[in-house]
Amino acid sequence: MSEVEKFYNRFKEYSKIDTTSNEVFSDKPSNDNEFVLANLLKKQLEELGLIDLYINKFATVYGYLPGNDENNKDSIALIAHLDTSNQANGKDIKARLVKFDGSDILLSNNIYLSKLDYPVLRNKIGHNLIVSDGTTLLGGDDKAGITIIMELIEYLVNNKNVKHCPIEVIFTSDEEIGVGADHVDIDKIKSKFGYTIDGGDLRYIEAENFNGASMKVIINGRAIHPGYAKDKMINAINVGIKFHNSLPEFLRPEDTSNRQGFYHLSDINGNEEKTVMDYIIREHDINKLNYMIEIANLSKERINNMYKKDIISLDIKLAYKNMKPELDKHKEVVDKIEKAYQNLNISYEFEAIRGGTDGASLTYKGLPCPNIATGSYNYHSRFEFIDVDESICVINILKEIVTNK
Ligand SMILES: [Zn+2]
Repeated sequence: MSEVEKFYNRFKEYSKIDTTSNEVFSDKPSNDNEFVLANLLKKQLEELGLIDLYINKFATVYGYLPGNDENNKDSIALIAHLDTSNQANGKDIKARLVKFDGSDILLSNNIYLSKLDYPVLRNKIGHNLIVSDGTTLLGGDDKAGITIIMELIEYLVNNKNVKHCPIEVIFTSDEEIGVGADHVDIDKIKSKFGYTIDGGDLRYIEAENFNGASMKVIINGRAIHPGYAKDKMINAINVGIKFHNSLPEFLRPEDTSNRQGFYHLSDINGNEEKTVMDYIIREHDINKLNYMIEIANLSKERINNMYKKDIISLDIKLAYKNMKPELDKHKEVVDKIEKAYQNLNISYEFEAIRGGTDGASLTYKGLPCPNIATGSYNYHSRFEFIDVDESICVINILKEIVTNK
């Protein structure tokens, strides 16, 4: 069986288990099927000879592959997540392998994956792609990451002459709903650093993410019969509109990219008496994020002054931080990825993630964790696909890293 078919068969097996995450629980994973996949992976790791295997109450899987290199004895953690996003259907996934010849791919009746809609496909002609049937997501995020790690481990176990460091395998649960890192028993991890295998395009190394804050705006107005409201009514909805309009108009997700931050109004609920608005604020630079928070506070103060009353209050919380300042203290962790790309002659650039990752949280828990690509594209979408040729490059990149080449 070719490497491509092997990868596809393994991925397909994992993709059949619907592990869509939905809701955070304090004592179990969001979807019981995360246990089904966790048990399958634990069994496979056991068969490969890994030790110290366990699954915790959140379905996080842990396994340890001892090293066989006297000169390379520090372990490295490799991390991927079990769950898939609830932004698209994750049930009855029918993964299919196609050799892409450049023409539109018919996913199922009248649903096509085309270069016109997804120009990135222009660079994929001749590649082996895994696609869904266009009615579900594919789950490459992050079962491609899991497949990559499993294929690497199998290779190392079957090629004892290849000298490598010890490896800690960690499959997290509920990453998509923001709690994957919380589910890791961090004090049991022996490695000084690790890598999440949860990126997309092979070209990008991700060692930077957004700083994220949430902002709840609570406006207490004063309702009165509209016919007799002059100088009496304070319409909380109108105050909310005033507040919203006071924020920089184009610092919004739909108007920004790359390293530009934004305010995103994600929910609004209200009437004359009370209005509540939920925002997220994102920026790679913490000083800029703090300045954006200052702007919101200034707006609040000016509006309160105008009404001579504290009608607006803001509840602002820091949700996660950019891992870059921490990773900068451990340059060797990112250097290893760069060196692997260079050894294999694969071109790369650094991309600043416009979101958070498990790795960012783990980094701040003391396990520096940049993010490596998986070769998956169109995450959280029915048009998700995996470029298997790229996924195999990632396996080779990890081989370079664990053999310290
Ligand atoms: Zn992911």
